[in-house]
Formats: sequence, C-alpha cells, structure tokens
Amino acid sequence: MSNLIIKRPKEIFELFSSLRNLSGVGEKKLKLLEKKIGPYLINLLFHLPHKSIDRFQNVSLKKVNHGDILTCKVEVVEVNIPPYNFRKKNNISRIITFGSNDEKNVRLDIVYFGQNTQYLKNIFKVGSKIYVSGKFENFNGLGQIAHPDYVVKEYEKKLIPLIQPIYPLFHGINQKFISKIINEGIKKIPTIPEWLRKDILIKYQFPTWQTCIFKTHNPENNSDANSNSVFRKRLALDELIANQISMLLIKNKISKIHKTNKTYGKSKLIENFYSTLPFELTKNQKKVIDEIKEDIHSNKTMVRMLQGDVGSGKTIVAVISMLNAILNGSQAVLMVPTEILAIQHFNTIQNLLKPIKIEPILLLGENRSFYDNKTRSNIIKQIADGKIKIIIGTHALISKKVIYNNLSLAVIDEQHRFGVKQRVEITDKGNSVNLLVMTATPIPRSLALTAYGDMDISVLSEKPIGRKSINTYVLSHKKIAEVLSSIERAIKAGALVYWVCPLIEDSENSDLIAVNERYNFLKNNFKNIKVSLIHGKQNQIEREKSMNEFKSGESKILVATTVIEVGVDIPEATIMVIECAERFGLAQIHQLRGRVGRSNKESSCILLYNSNLSSIAHSRLKILKENDDGFKISEHDLELRGPGEILGSKQSGNLDFKFVDLHIHNQLIPIARDEARKMLENEEDREKINFLLSIFENNEAIKLLKGG
Ligand code: ADP
Ligand code: MG
Repeated sequence: MSNLIIKRPKEIFELFSSLRNLSGVGEKKLKLLEKKIGPYLINLLFHLPHKSIDRFQNVSLKKVNHGDILTCKVEVVEVNIPPYNFRKKNNISRIITFGSNDEKNVRLDIVYFGQNTQYLKNIFKVGSKIYVSGKFENFNGLGQIAHPDYVVKEYEKKLIPLIQPIYPLFHGINQKFISKIINEGIKKIPTIPEWLRKDILIKYQFPTWQTCIFKTHNPENNSDANSNSVFRKRLALDELIANQISMLLIKNKISKIHKTNKTYGKSKLIENFYSTLPFELTKNQKKVIDEIKEDIHSNKTMVRMLQGDVGSGKTIVAVISMLNAILNGSQAVLMVPTEILAIQHFNTIQNLLKPIKIEPILLLGENRSFYDNKTRSNIIKQIADGKIKIIIGTHALISKKVIYNNLSLAVIDEQHRFGVKQRVEITDKGNSVNLLVMTATPIPRSLALTAYGDMDISVLSEKPIGRKSINTYVLSHKKIAEVLSSIERAIKAGALVYWVCPLIEDSENSDLIAVNERYNFLKNNFKNIKVSLIHGKQNQIEREKSMNEFKSGESKILVATTVIEVGVDIPEATIMVIECAERFGLAQIHQLRGRVGRSNKESSCILLYNSNLSSIAHSRLKILKENDDGFKISEHDLELRGPGEILGSKQSGNLDFKFVDLHIHNQLIPIARDEARKMLENEEDREKINFLLSIFENNEAIKLLKGG
C-alpha cells in the first residue's frame, strides 16, 4: 500500500474552489471567512451548526412565554412608521397586529429601532395577513417581537424554515449570510462516486454524502438536526474511515519488513544488567520487556505503545529494551518532551548502566547553557560515527543535523507531548527503526483506536510492590494556614514537598508572577526551611540547580509550574500541593499527583481550590480523591473535557474531527477500522481512498501522508 499517492481527484476540484465565487462575498468578507472557516468551499460545507431552533415550537399568541421563539400568522391593523431621519437613528417603528383566526383579539406589536423606514413601509400594509417569526417578549404586559427574523406574506410561509440551524458566528458575519452562502455552496457540490460499500449503505440506510451534507445544513425536524441523525452518522463514519486509513498507512510507512536478518549477540549483557538492579522487576514489567524484545528481534519493525500509569516503572522497561536493541551493534534513542526530564533520565540511566560499562549520551537543543556548541557538535559527531549506542534527548534528536550511524530503536517517553509527526520523523532517522512510545496518560479504548490506531499496545497494569496509595485531600484555599502547619510538621519528619502553581491561560508572564509570589510567600513563611523554585523561563543552570537542591534534600519545598508534570522521579518527595486545582484537567492532576507515592512511604496530595468553586467543579475534584486508577480518571476527563485534554494538544490535532463526536459515535470506531482495512486490501478501492482522504485532508495524519 506504500505506493499509494494521495492526490485530489479532479471530480472534486469544485469543493476546493475559492469562497470568492459565492455571491455577496467581497474582499472583506472573503478575508474573514478564509481566516475563520478556511479558504475552500469544503471548509464552508464543514462549518456545522452548533444548534438549531425549532421555529414552530410556538405558534399560539395565547400560550407563548417571554423569550420563546414564536412563529404565527397575524393581521396588520396599524402601521406607525415615522419618517426616516438619519440623524435620529433611534426612531421607533411600531406595527400593531392581531392574531388571525381564533386569536383575533390578541395583540402583537412588531417593533423596529432606527430601521430604514421605506423598507418597512413596503412590507407592512394595513389589512394584510403576514407570518412573523422571532423572539417573543412580554413588554409591560404587551406582547411584542422586536426585529423579527422573518416577516413573509401569507402565501410565502414556506420561506420560514421549520428547523433553523444556528451557526457559530464571528464579527462581521451574521446568521442569514452564512446560511445563505452555505446553501449556495451546497448547490455546487459535484457528483462524487460512492466510497462506502453497499452492505454498509444498506445496513445503516445511509443516504449519499451529498444528501448528508445537505440535510446537516437543512434539517427538517429536530432529529435531523441531532448529531445522532443518520446524516451525521454517515459523515462521522466517513471521517473515521479516513482517520483509520491514514493511521494504517502511517503504520505501514513506519513498519517495514527487513530484508536482511539481524543478528543479535548473546544476552549476557542483559543478564549482567539484571543482577545489578536495585530492585526486582515485577512480573508485569518482565512480560512487557519480553513482548518488546520479541518485536525488536523479529524481522518486522515494531510500532508499539506502552501504557502504564504514573509510577508504574516504564523507564526501566525502556532501558532494557534499548539494551536489547543495541545487542547487534546498533543505536537506540530515548526522546522526551522537556529538558528537565531529559537530564533526569540521562542521570538515572547513566548510573544504571555504569556497572555494565555502557556510556549513554545526552543531546539537548542548540544554544543552551547546558553545554557549549563545540561540545554539542562533538556529540553529534559521535552519534554519526556510531560510537555512542544509547542517546537520550529532547526534540533535538530529530533535528536535521543529527544523523545516526544505525538507529534501530526509538523510545518516545511521555508521548502525549508529541504529535504523529514526530513519531514519523524519528523513525525516518534510520532504515527500519523500531518505535516504542510510552504514555502515562491512560487512554480510553475508543480514543486509543482513533488516536493511536497505528500501534500495538502493551500495558503495565500493576505498580511496583510495596507502593502505598496516595491520600488525596480537597481543601478550600481558605484552609491554607492549616496546610502550611501540617506541611511544616511533615518536613520536620523528613518529607519533601512539591508546590505546584497553576497555569494562567495564555499568559506565561502572570504565570511567572504567581509562582514567584508563592515562592516568596513560602520563603517568608518558613524561615528555617530552604525553598527552591523551578519554572520554564529559567535557564538550564538555574533549573538544574533547583532540581539538585530538592533532590538532595537540601531544600525541602520545590515551588513549580507544570514543568514538573511529566516524568520527574524523586522518590523521597511525599507531599504534593496543587493550587487552584480546579484549573487543571483531571488527567493532568493525576500526572502531577504521580510525582509522589514513588516509594514505600505514605504520600499525600492536597488539592487547593478557590473558595467560589461551583458544586460541579468541586465534584470533579472529588473524582480524584476517590480514584487512583488513571484509566478511570481519564474516562471521566473524556466525558468532562473532551479528547483534547487527555491526549494533549499535539495529539488532538489528529482528533480534530469535524463530524465525529467520540461520545456519540463510539460504536462506529471498530466499524471504521474494519472498513479501512478492507479498502486498503482491495486494489480497486484506491480511487475511493483517494476521494475520502482528499475530502478530509485537514486531518493531521493525512497531511503528513501527503508530505504536508
Ligand atoms: P513511570 O512509569 O512513571 O515512568 P518510573 O519509571 O519513573 O515510572 O518509575 C517510578 C519509580 O519506581 C522509579 O523510582 C523506579 O526506579 C522505581 N521502580 C521501577 N520498577 C520498580 C520495581 N520493579 N520495583 C521497585 N521500584 C521500581
Ligand atoms: Mg516516566
């Protein structure tokens, strides 16, 4: 399948025509639309209503309530339209009407403020019968509609939509306009060959793609407008199939059959290594290590994800896997999202490997204070020579300058911080690079298939023996004095404390102010206790210094931003305080909480919230108190905050679905997987795949396949 070239078929060129061809779209509107919706007709067609209004939910003047949408037939009785005066923009025009038929005695006023009056005079004539539709208001006991959405003649009733889709808007574009151009666009949809198989079409009674797009924008009743409707369901299935095809293609791209047989040396090295470990591996760790080893030593490239809750001991699995990979003289890398983590892993792994005389190397980005450019160039040279077998680093590992001698395994830790793109980039650094991605964010199955459909999955389901569960407390910020005094007691008894300050949206600066303030506050509060500070804006040396002070126990409190969220491993730390916990995602707090509870000592996590917390937000935090299973927590998070929160923004780019709602369309995922497989196996389906992937070309994985 690797020779599949995704190219927009000419049958659908029209879908990629510019929005400037639509009537009423001048330069100004064009710019707006291009910026907010996208440049092409297809982007406009994919601009979906976020809700719909049932215009005929109220048709009776007698029963309508203040604020309801009302659509009814009335007779114009009196027209009060002052002469138009542009200086007096607030002129009020009032048209007095009475209901028709059995509501003849009920009055309804139609009111306009500062409207061009000639226009009004043309539509409102005493004695005429009209339909009006708009928001009903009870104004001092008098029923009125101000600026109705629709006013039509009796025989034009059909012009009022039964169900009116409501679109997300932005400044400069209104409902009427957007709905008008969308419907104009719909008329331009070309005839496209069907890509779904007949049995699927029959089984689910799916209409054509074109019909589904039409109905999505022109629902006839409430159930059409629902994301559960057959129309939305088909569009969602199309999208999921496109997603699954791209996932499988990426998998094929990474996973190749080796032509040559690898020869692996004796695993004496590994045996020696086992005997030097300070702990016994758990059964589960051994099992996963074997799974990975088998993959690496087979003649097909591995594409595997290792899921294991925080603290489950993934690092050692990575290290042993790297050793298994380099037995034949090749190289292995471990890539992590932050420098803090890279340095920590480097130190840990360097120590672990010392007894077996393997020297790993650390590669960070350019122009860092950690080492000078000359040292760095030298490291890159050693990587190219193949002298160095185990390399640990950040994104720097995939930069163009870095060339590997013979890379055979890439491990990506905390992979939710990376995108599909980096997965492909790192594996492009060698001929057939085995890929192991590790994640501590357990992912509900539905998400795993859509986001990571390209991988096999191993799970570390148990924690090392002897771990105590973490006691979690949910407390109001008002209780801070008590928190401080219990921390003081704990520190006297030997505890180390993380103190995490929240992320303030879009504002790294106020973020810094918050941590700095807290740092100073804690320093003043605990005169005899050393407090350290760590955040993303520090340079490497400052950060390293803080980490070391804390790790060695010289300082007892580490005030931090979420830079410590991933991977940091200091077993002596047993208390985690998280301020404004309500601002974090549940999975994120679970990650942070996972920084403690890494030894056989009792640990606790204190979640502080702002006093004016809603009861929903409070119960959200309680979920954390009651659960320490990352899987359960991420299920909750998926429900509460959507996939982006769980997967991280990079990953969710791939899940930036237009039609799929993972809650609602869950059951479609395995079907999509199946269909995608069938299509990829069938030569004759090439053309269909091409259509499908072209239509959803905005998807990150598909962009990648196209080399975008
Ligand atoms: P994570 O899965 O969160 O990356 P780590 O690999 O950092 O977890 O491991 C957490 C801690 O548990 C580390 O201090 C590590 O040395 C320790 N550890 C790992 N495996 C075992 C084991 N089998 N027995 C005891 N401690 C272990
Ligand atoms: Mg880790």
